[in-house]
Amino acid sequence: MTNQYNFQNQVAVITGGGNGIGRATAIMMAEAGAHVFAGDVNHLEENRETFSRLEIVEIVCDVRQESEVQALIEAAVSKYGKIDILVNNAGIGLVKPIHQVTESEWDACIDTNLKGTFFGCKHAIKYMLATGGGAIINTASNAGLLPRVHDPVYSISKHAVVALTESLGLCHGKDNIRVNCVCPGPVGETGMMNDDLANAADPEGLTQLMIRASPIAAAHRRMIKPQEVASAICYLASKDALMVTGTALRIDGGKSLGVPPQGM
Ligand code: NAD
Repeated sequence: MTNQYNFQNQVAVITGGGNGIGRATAIMMAEAGAHVFAGDVNHLEENRETFSRLEIVEIVCDVRQESEVQALIEAAVSKYGKIDILVNNAGIGLVKPIHQVTESEWDACIDTNLKGTFFGCKHAIKYMLATGGGAIINTASNAGLLPRVHDPVYSISKHAVVALTESLGLCHGKDNIRVNCVCPGPVGETGMMNDDLANAADPEGLTQLMIRASPIAAAHRRMIKPQEVASAICYLASKDALMVTGTALRIDGGKSLGVPPQGM
């Protein structure tokens, strides 16, 4: 995939930047010239060489902890005096019917996917207001547009991320702060997808079911790539999207346009 973006002198913070969509975004933005700070609850040794070549600063950050999100954003601001781009991408899944969900599972899912996004917006917007604007991109999901039968709590968390995006897009347009989200899925080569497949009784059957649920993915006989979501995030962060705010951009091959096949 060609990198068409120019983020020279831009400062970008990405949560969940150690793997999957977040890592692909960190690499794409850094290759386009951005100073990238990648926060993740896990340190992945396999990123060391690429991150060091691209000068991506890796910071251990659990987005459920406000102080850690604040510290991540302040690391960027204290080095460069500003934050231009925030990607609230950290997220976890929860595949369970509602009557089997424990309080701690509910908290983990909602706190990671929604509260972490709130913390990111809260602390980035404070600095963006002081420097004349910025761009925030939240990673929601096709599950944020169309509820699914197998993961209701995840879907609730992502619907809320779409609502947060629209609400803050409305509140901060006047401040030149754009707030958008991407709604991907199914994305292969990600920890989330690998976990779902590892827990499935028939991983190959589930793979084919997921591909069939997305018309364009089915046409290409494959899942969406993390880089294809990263590219959409880069577009929303770029000057090309100067007049775009409050959108929920589907990167799901049409999955959220209709009811998925039986079994999903
Ligand atoms: P992934 O598991 O590869 O990446 C998620 C990253 O978030 C990991 O590096 C993980 O360590 C990190 N993370 C998890 N909890 C965290 C926490 N509390 N604090 C900080 N970091 C944390 O999976 P992915 O698919 O790349 O997920 C990225 C985002 O994309 C998530 O928000 C997910 O909900 C969303 N998404 C994924 C798919 C898909 O099909 N894979 C579809 C739609 C939306």
